[in-house]
Amino acid sequence: MSEKKFICTACGTSFPIRKNISRCPKCHEPLEVEEFFSTEICAEETSDIFKRYKNFFPFKSCSDTFSLGEGMTPLLSSPSLSKKLGVHNVFLKNETVNSTWSFKDRGTASALRHAVELGFHRIGTVSTGNMAASVAAFGARANLETTILVKEDLPIEKLNPIAIYNARVVKVYGDYSLLYEESLRLGEKYGIYFMNSDVPFRVEGSKTIAFEICEQTKFNVPDVVIVPTSAGGNIRGIEKGFREFYKSGLIPHMPLIVAAQAEGCAPIVEAYKKNANSIERFPSPHTIAHAIENPFPPSGNQVLRVLSRQKGVAVAVPEKEILQAQRELAGTGLFVQPASAVSLAAIPILIERGIVTSNQQVACILTGSGLKYTAAFEAHKLTSEDVNIDSLEDCVRV
Ligand SMILES: [Zn+2]
Repeated sequence: MSEKKFICTACGTSFPIRKNISRCPKCHEPLEVEEFFSTEICAEETSDIFKRYKNFFPFKSCSDTFSLGEGMTPLLSSPSLSKKLGVHNVFLKNETVNSTWSFKDRGTASALRHAVELGFHRIGTVSTGNMAASVAAFGARANLETTILVKEDLPIEKLNPIAIYNARVVKVYGDYSLLYEESLRLGEKYGIYFMNSDVPFRVEGSKTIAFEICEQTKFNVPDVVIVPTSAGGNIRGIEKGFREFYKSGLIPHMPLIVAAQAEGCAPIVEAYKKNANSIERFPSPHTIAHAIENPFPPSGNQVLRVLSRQKGVAVAVPEKEILQAQRELAGTGLFVQPASAVSLAAIPILIERGIVTSNQQVACILTGSGLKYTAAFEAHKLTSEDVNIDSLEDCVRV
């Protein structure tokens, strides 16, 4: 690992990168890996993101022993959605094709490399969905003891896709919101690398979404990039990726970064509207965009700082529009989970506010697969037809 440092995102204090620390002991805000600069984008012509973007990671080894083929996902242009929404171009970054069908695999793969280089044999996370499955899968790939802490009431259909990877799944009874801190504390004490939602190397993994978008647009970066935002780790990583390429002189400008949340759980948007420096716990969260229902995001304050520094925007989307956008995306051939659809649903709101204009190119990050949350089917009232085989010809003729 090259001698980069962790920097506190709030007070700027630096810490050695060869330690498993994720928050500043002084101000308790999240740490970030020092910025990387390079004019050599593609170190190797390969689809392995850690080899391709080697100059933007501090790892000593680029071995693909731990890879599950994460990253290098398609960036699709959607002429039909562009026309419908009245913008120059809508790009869809399809993260549903990752190894465990969500963007989380990038951060897990990155944090796993850090854990292994530090000599950890035990990893874990706190999650009830995408991240849990991702860490369980990568733990299996690397043959590490993997502990996944989940909510006491996690339904069996969500628990099984985690347990299938042979991870140790622990249902924790008590206040789930305390688990993030408690897991980090116990991890430090017992040598378990808890790669939770916004730990610095998970954020590093998300950078590659931005790197790929730059390459896929031949460095004509989109004007606007909309990121469904929960804990805040993914949007932080994406912003850092664009920032590193911009400061390296590889792209002409930073895109406008938009944090999109569901109205039913929008702690970052609420703080942004008040021009506040810190978030408050969102009362009674409830949204169909379950994957981004985090009432007190651990990187919330840092997302506010990023938006302030980059003149970014935070926007909340009503439930009805989320479902409609999910249906619209399915209508273009992409079945995403409701949380992902929040990015597309944000576009009309941004247009109405004059933030997005008709001559602009907008990229939506489609974070995870629709099959991750089949409970949403019920809201769509989908139908099928019945026919007897004798009447099939009449049926299909029309
Ligand atoms: Zn600090």
